[in-house]
Amino acid sequence: LHARLADPQLLKNGSLIDGRWLTSSDCFAVCDPATGQPFAEVANHGAAEAAAAVAAAGRALPAWRATTAKERAAVLQRWFALVNAHQDDLALILTSEQGKPLAEARGEVGYGASFIQWYAEEARRLYGETVPTTDGDKRYLVIPQAIGVCAAITPWNFPIAMITRKLAPALAAGCTVVLKPAEATPLSALALAELALRAGLPAGVLNVVTADADASIDVGRIWCDSPVVRHLSFTGSTEVGRILMRQCASTVKQLSLELGGNAPFIVFDDADLESAVEGALAAKFRNAGQTCVCVNRFYVQAGIHDAFVARLATRAAELRLGPGLVEGSQQGPLIDAAALAKVEQHVADALARGAQLHCGGQRVGERFYAPTVLSGAQAGMLCAREETFGPVAPVFRFDTEAEVIAAANASESGLASYLYTRDIGRIFRVGEALEYGMVGINTGLISTAEVPFGGVKQSGLGREGSRHGIADYVELKYLCLGGL
Ligand code: ADP
Repeated sequence: LHARLADPQLLKNGSLIDGRWLTSSDCFAVCDPATGQPFAEVANHGAAEAAAAVAAAGRALPAWRATTAKERAAVLQRWFALVNAHQDDLALILTSEQGKPLAEARGEVGYGASFIQWYAEEARRLYGETVPTTDGDKRYLVIPQAIGVCAAITPWNFPIAMITRKLAPALAAGCTVVLKPAEATPLSALALAELALRAGLPAGVLNVVTADADASIDVGRIWCDSPVVRHLSFTGSTEVGRILMRQCASTVKQLSLELGGNAPFIVFDDADLESAVEGALAAKFRNAGQTCVCVNRFYVQAGIHDAFVARLATRAAELRLGPGLVEGSQQGPLIDAAALAKVEQHVADALARGAQLHCGGQRVGERFYAPTVLSGAQAGMLCAREETFGPVAPVFRFDTEAEVIAAANASESGLASYLYTRDIGRIFRVGEALEYGMVGINTGLISTAEVPFGGVKQSGLGREGSRHGIADYVELKYLCLGGL
């Protein structure tokens, strides 16, 4: 990897604390998901470094919070420009550790950068308010203030975008940050941090702690327990989200949680078949099905069911499997052996319970799973109840609108959902009835920095992106001016 990068200085091998890079003799390996082979080593830090990072962020807070919004915006704009300028290198690093095809990785770098740009702009529009008085001797003011030191814990499926989506609003608001990237994908996070330093972010404003799976638990505990840390933002599994929420109770932290989904994709008889299938491919097989907004359940109305299944299977079977670094690969490997095992378990369970296989249904080599389409899916199957997080499309047949709304909502999750129909009344009826934070209507791609991303029910708390995404990083202070 070193040799392929235009700027090898982007490769770092340990934590960033108080503006200094820390290595260690105790390291963990970063592996290429396409082969399972380690290609880099990163310091395995833990509780001590987590505490040092909080201390550094606490020391850096007063000065950073005191900068003007315009000054913070300027640093973020420079960071945005640097991320774009290094898009190819960042994509290479990302694909090497995460596995997604290079074209998708470049797309993620652009998407990730867009949050930095957006919040550089939003920094300058963080308005307060004046409130009409109820007492002639008084005036009421409301001012937004940075919440303080923020902690971010991020997943491996979007090693860049899930970080910028948290860091950019935090930094824009005047907060300082401690970040722990996923153990599978620390290199992307460290490269981003290096670019932030080059953009002029002062020492201690952003600190990154690298840790393996076990040490990550210690880091999380230190940050949850710390009274200095005022906000925790986490993207990952619902199970870990619950643990962190529990741990944050003792210090009553502000929480932003973006947890698992179980997205339904509903196709009505009047849908445009071709566009529904293309939307389905994008919403299902992107990142090999490993995104929290990936479709988990397809509901297709009886009249269009057979044609949709046949067309989806044909198109899915055409996707080119291959290592992400090989140009032309359309679907990369799964992240690790456990991910592959879960996919196999879900497919075996569905077939044992009567589902029919239309394409795929097996692993390819040690790391890849063929894009798979199943019909005859039923509510009791594992693939209906749990997030498969892999390239498997189970199709349920339905008859009525009321039936499909009930089925789609029968989930503890409520992140993304999708709906294909040309009937304007149905768009509103179903769009409003779906208990999901986001509804894609006649499209399979919904994410962009300008809109609020987030879920209802057990999919999380708060929204990321959009003008709302900065709200969790500020406290509103009320000033009451008396004695006028
Ligand atoms: P995934 O299933 O996508 O790997 P996880 O929720 O397990 O998602 O992991 C997401 C992030 O949470 C990673 O950075 C991981 O290291 C971290 N993590 C996992 N368990 C804990 C924990 N108990 N405390 C703090 N962080 C954790």
